[in-house]
Amino acid sequence: MGKSLSFITPSGRVTLGNYIGALSQWTAAPGNVYAVADLHGITTPWNPETLRTYIIEIASVLIALGLDQNQSIVYIQSQVAAHAEMAWLLECVGHMGEFQRMTQFKAKGRGRGDISVGLFTYPALMAGDILLHDVDTVPVGEDQKQHVELTRDLAIRVNHLFGPVFTVPEPKVPTVGARVRSLKNPNEKMSKSVIDDGTVLLLESPDSIHRKFMAAVTDSGREVHYDPVEKPGISNLLEIYAALAKEPLDDIVARYRTAGYGTFKRKVAEVVIESTKSVRESALALQTNSEEILNRLQQGRQEAWSTTNAKLQQVKRAMGFWLP
Ligand code: ATP
Ligand code: MG
Repeated sequence: MGKSLSFITPSGRVTLGNYIGALSQWTAAPGNVYAVADLHGITTPWNPETLRTYIIEIASVLIALGLDQNQSIVYIQSQVAAHAEMAWLLECVGHMGEFQRMTQFKAKGRGRGDISVGLFTYPALMAGDILLHDVDTVPVGEDQKQHVELTRDLAIRVNHLFGPVFTVPEPKVPTVGARVRSLKNPNEKMSKSVIDDGTVLLLESPDSIHRKFMAAVTDSGREVHYDPVEKPGISNLLEIYAALAKEPLDDIVARYRTAGYGTFKRKVAEVVIESTKSVRESALALQTNSEEILNRLQQGRQEAWSTTNAKLQQVKRAMGFWLP
């Protein structure tokens, strides 16, 4: 399958959606690249102290998942200068029209007067993140697929204009759990930038996770079955269960069809708490020492620095710059 790469933004605390749609699919196979995308964390207004905390939380989760093992690397994006520079090169290759079509920009900018230029251009930063590493696949949730497709278009355009410098990557979206929805508003994606009882955090206490599931919005009727249009609440819970237990939806439905919503919600909470227990406990233990986390990421930073710098120089040469 080749090398794969995934980044996660410290725009809030890690959610169950991030875990199911992204983190739990990531593997520490040789050549894989993972990073805390902190440069992406400032596309909307931020607080420096909070940003520092979120970076450490995400780093602790990546380490707890063992993603810096087995010749995979984990690093912090802002510590590797090539990312910001590559973003500029790709901004100058991208077109206004194609960036304006990005639905994330439309969704996140909606109703705000203070939209940053960075929120509009960040798909170029993301494209650079991916292309700097010459990876084959990018595992992402449904919401990021469009950005990976834009990345492909930019890579193909650069290769065409300046010669073959980039590997053209493929998005890889999970079949179940690609779009976990809010427990309070099952028609909306669960997001770390939305903080309410509909967002379940990976590192919150089991009691609190249990409470949020018991309060999850359900639908009219009493039967547990899968129908995302008529029963978005129950269907969301079924997907969460199926993704974490790695069990077919139909088998779960067969077991809980007549069990009642309360019993079913209690079971989903239990599956969530159990299947995330080990990552939660290890990440919380690591978080007590941020220095140690930063030290653990030094090696990843060095490797990323050398790979990305080599790629950046190659692209700059192809584009017509003089190298020092
Ligand atoms: P934000 O609200 O700031 O965009 P986010 O929760 O969407 O935060 P990202 O950092 O944008 O998180 O995405 C990290 C990864 O998690 C991506 O691969 C994304 O597709 C995936 N992801 C995010 N939310 C969900 C979700 N609700 N269900 C499945 N996957 C998700
Ligand atoms: Mg997002």
